[in-house]
Amino acid sequence: AILIASRNLVDIGSSFHVAAGVASRVVDYLDAKSSVRLDTVPATATRIDLSGSIEFRDVHFAYASRPDTPVLKGVNLTVPPGGKIALVGISGSGKSTLLELLMRIYEPDKGSIVVGGADVRNIPVSELCAAIGYVPQEDFLLSGSVIENIRYGNPEASLDDAVYAARRAHAHGFIEQLPNGYQTDLGEVGSRLSGGQRRRISLARAMLRKPRILLLDEATTALDQESEREVRAALDQVSANATTVIKITHSIRDAMTSDTIAVMDEGRIVAQGTHAGLLASSPVYRRLAAEEEETSRPKAAAVVA
Ligand code: ADP
Ligand code: MG
Repeated sequence: AILIASRNLVDIGSSFHVAAGVASRVVDYLDAKSSVRLDTVPATATRIDLSGSIEFRDVHFAYASRPDTPVLKGVNLTVPPGGKIALVGISGSGKSTLLELLMRIYEPDKGSIVVGGADVRNIPVSELCAAIGYVPQEDFLLSGSVIENIRYGNPEASLDDAVYAARRAHAHGFIEQLPNGYQTDLGEVGSRLSGGQRRRISLARAMLRKPRILLLDEATTALDQESEREVRAALDQVSANATTVIKITHSIRDAMTSDTIAVMDEGRIVAQGTHAGLLASSPVYRRLAAEEEETSRPKAAAVVA
């Protein structure tokens, strides 16, 4: 914790207006995984106007624990400001790692990542964190109240702002139904929330920060249909504004709703396009689509002779 505090002092010195609380809570979370020393951010880095464009340029990466097993092998991907992209690919193809590099939880071994025209290495981490809303694969809820959970990472936000974020995340309705509404302690009811409800609280938390860039790493466990509909409606609402969105999804049906679909395979983006275009051009995509078809088909075994 001491390390984190001193890191933030470094950052605050070079970027005004970024409230210590915002930076520290988010950095705090990222820090749990981070291998990047934040004190390597150049002291000369000044405020950068972060438009939501994102560019991965020939990004290579291996985890330090497995240096001989490259996870990313030359990723090239461009998302224009306000673009919405769905990232699909089999488990282990490197999707989550790609987002983690974008947030500087890890650094590329080779290549670069450019946000709003600036190499992320030159952007103070507090600014990068303030620009990015991240919904991790595992929704993390704290034992505090619903409102504390939504404000996590943005503790000085007003109640009105938090409720507005919850409405946009399609979470307001069910939150009001909880025993004490926004004051309900999630330590008591947390385990009774559905996966979709947890996800929407995570979304509200990310949206409260009005991020230029929204990164969503979808949980592998499928949501029930109703929740999936609610979460998708929430995302459609975010997509209506200028936010740039990268969404990792395990569902082709879900990916189809994005502007563009990028297909990741063995550490590379192997194809990009629309659903129809990819069905025609990408064998990897066709395989993913066929597998989904297979698992959603009613089991033949159900027909008992
Ligand atoms: P995806 O999100 O597409 O399922 P990941 O980015 O999570 O893929 O993982 C890509 C590869 O990196 C996998 O082989 C995974 O086992 C490995 N990996 C992920 N996280 C770590 C880590 N912290 N240390 C070592 N290897 C990891
Ligand atoms: Mg993943």
